[in-house]
Amino acid sequence: MGFLTEPEPPRHICLDVLPGIQRVVAANPGVMTYHGTNSYLVETADGLAVIDPGPDDTAHVADLLVAIAGRELSVILLTHTHTDHCGAVPALAKATRAPVAVYEVSVNLGFVPDIKLSDGGKVSGFTAVHTPGHATDHLCFAFKGQAGERLLFSGDHVMSWSSSIVSPPDGDMGDYYRSLSLLLEREDDLFLPGHGPMLSEPRILTAALLAHRQKRERAVLMALAGREWSVAALAADLYAKADLFLKAAAQRNVLAHLLKLKAEGTVRELSPENQDHPDNIALTALAVKHESWRERVSRMQEDAKRRFGLSAGEASV
Ligand SMILES: [Zn+2]
Repeated sequence: MGFLTEPEPPRHICLDVLPGIQRVVAANPGVMTYHGTNSYLVETADGLAVIDPGPDDTAHVADLLVAIAGRELSVILLTHTHTDHCGAVPALAKATRAPVAVYEVSVNLGFVPDIKLSDGGKVSGFTAVHTPGHATDHLCFAFKGQAGERLLFSGDHVMSWSSSIVSPPDGDMGDYYRSLSLLLEREDDLFLPGHGPMLSEPRILTAALLAHRQKRERAVLMALAGREWSVAALAADLYAKADLFLKAAAQRNVLAHLLKLKAEGTVRELSPENQDHPDNIALTALAVKHESWRERVSRMQEDAKRRFGLSAGEASV
């Protein structure tokens, strides 16, 4: 797939992206975050906007305040409420008194939003585009650039450097397919993602991401045609991942495929009706905010014990 790379960006510095748009890259590099979370500063007719203040990191908030340089902040926008994007919201909102705008329904808030956006909602020149899949409350923000470019701040829904994890229950593969298809119908010129560099000709990568998942879904169905699988075993068969976290992430993606196929009536879940599964908690515990990554890996692996089989009458792939 045509992913982009970039050298590690300079830290604690405001980087020019496009006229009127800058980013500060948070110092939270990792296997899921690339060089770190992009916090964007965007000049609008109403004043400055910040998209995704980033993780709860005092130094990053200080860098943002230096970049804001005393300018009036009209709004803080959140693409979604994962902690690498929203952890700094309370500190930045307190320091700037700017209102915080987020999707109207959210499960993971550690603060009270001032503006609740629905699909198509508008604030300071941005239009919210509800794009669940990576997270139920995920929004992309459409914005007209100073040179007339049709920009989309794409958060973690479509990133230039990697595909997104779709981890149930907050992540939903059916929603992810629909939200990728939605972006294919749009005519944006550039995506500005939550991690990684700006993406030009964004529909090429978006189409490739959707095709990649469809290919993976076919592989899941072919594997299920002959036998029953646990999620962990199927993920190990389909993905070659040595890193513990990436292995767990692969299991989450496979589980997400299986739950989508189950919702469509194609596969049959052999639990929890017949067995006591420790992962039942994971499907009801929507708030995962305070988990360390080790706790999250352990929860993911417990969840991966879940077993699936192909439904009768759906064996031809
Ligand atoms: Zn992120």
